[in-house]
Amino acid sequence: MFRLSAVRTSHFLPSLFLLLAGLAAAYVRDLSVFFTSLFNVLPTLVLLLGGAYCAVYRRQRELFLMVTVYIAYFLLDTQTDFYRDNGRVREDAAVIFHLVCLLLPALFGLYGAWQERTHLAQDLLARFAVLFAVSSVAVALEQSFPEALLGWLAEIRWPSLHGQWMSLIQLAYPLFLAVFILLVVQYLREPRPLHAAQIIGLIGIFWMLPKTFILPFTLNIMCSQVMLMIAAAVSHEAYQMAFRDELTGLPGRRALNERMQRLGRNYVIAMTDVDHFKKFNDTHGHDVGDQVLRLVASRLSKVTGGGRAYRYGGEEFALVFAGKTAEECLPHLEAVREMIANYAIQLRDQNSRPQDDSTGRQRRGGGVNTTVSVTISIGVAERQVEHRNPDEVLKSADQALYSAKGAGRNCVMTFGQQSRRGAVRMAS
Ligand code: GH3
Ligand code: MG
Ligand code: MG
Repeated sequence: MFRLSAVRTSHFLPSLFLLLAGLAAAYVRDLSVFFTSLFNVLPTLVLLLGGAYCAVYRRQRELFLMVTVYIAYFLLDTQTDFYRDNGRVREDAAVIFHLVCLLLPALFGLYGAWQERTHLAQDLLARFAVLFAVSSVAVALEQSFPEALLGWLAEIRWPSLHGQWMSLIQLAYPLFLAVFILLVVQYLREPRPLHAAQIIGLIGIFWMLPKTFILPFTLNIMCSQVMLMIAAAVSHEAYQMAFRDELTGLPGRRALNERMQRLGRNYVIAMTDVDHFKKFNDTHGHDVGDQVLRLVASRLSKVTGGGRAYRYGGEEFALVFAGKTAEECLPHLEAVREMIANYAIQLRDQNSRPQDDSTGRQRRGGGVNTTVSVTISIGVAERQVEHRNPDEVLKSADQALYSAKGAGRNCVMTFGQQSRRGAVRMAS
């Protein structure tokens, strides 16, 4: 089941930026001593910092992704150093390189798709056991049967599918493709920054491997960038946890506080509150209440007129309109209030709740479930000479909301004005 509605470009942007920066840096020919020294220590530095970061956040999957990339870097760096110093490759270069071309995407895909489920210590042990087993077998084979292993790795199994452009062993290509598909499917099923970073990271590795001995520092740069992508995804997700409300997906109170610091000279804050929601919860249960909050949040997030919705707390939401006056915002607020009031919410069976909007929409069309509806009250306030501070404007909006409740609910009230109920009617 894919959740296409949750796919975001922002999940990919940090990784794409790192990938492009890595590509650009790898093509720089004459590096200064400063950058040469930097690139020599960068992968180790990134592993130490990123690893510590993952450990603090208890992100074992990401830690093992980084360690996998670092081991590959270490093995290949030994070879490229020898090549640079002696002008020829070491005798075990081919077998090591081919092994890395196979094991790096395999382990990257495995750790990338292996979600943490069990107890943390068991999870750590299991991941370590896999890494240890794979490395041991690889080392044993490489030491005991180097010739046979090299022959097996380098064999062209499907001559008709072999292209001139293929500079890696043939086996690596179907493997990269399989891992790529696996990671894309994982992202579509659960769109989140880490899953996006893994896809871009794999592309970076795929680009890097054939250039390992050709472009100096490609290895150092791209391995560092891929590890940075993983670390950046961890911090992106931590940021989301802090600033996004988990239930509704809207930015939360912290995000609102931040936004309020950066509002310009004119802005409008509207506070909205679901009417009689306590009674609704008591009648239909907390789970249905949650479901309704999600729907209300999704409608509020689509408010027109440039408004941005935040979950203030509980069943209260704030809408912020930057650069607008209250008069300009009222039609948009009336429209969203009316849309929510007219929306017949079908109560679904909790066990078969669809995960995305589109399946939900399809099901809602054909069900025979009971329908309920909720209304919201809205209090609006704009920045005025006597209310310069966003906190004061918010307080005024709250007072207006209180008046809206007093005026019978399901209406929009502006601070210091009469009820605007029915002032603007729009088709929903
Ligand atoms: P009013 O019209 O005056 O706003 O009445 P009300 O019942 O909505 O007001 P009140 O603020 O007393 O009740 C808010 C209720 O919202 C209390 C709580 O049960 C419910 N609530 C708050 N947060 C959540 C949530 O995350 N999920 C659910 N299901 N209910 C919540
Ligand atoms: Mg309330
Ligand atoms: Mg309420």
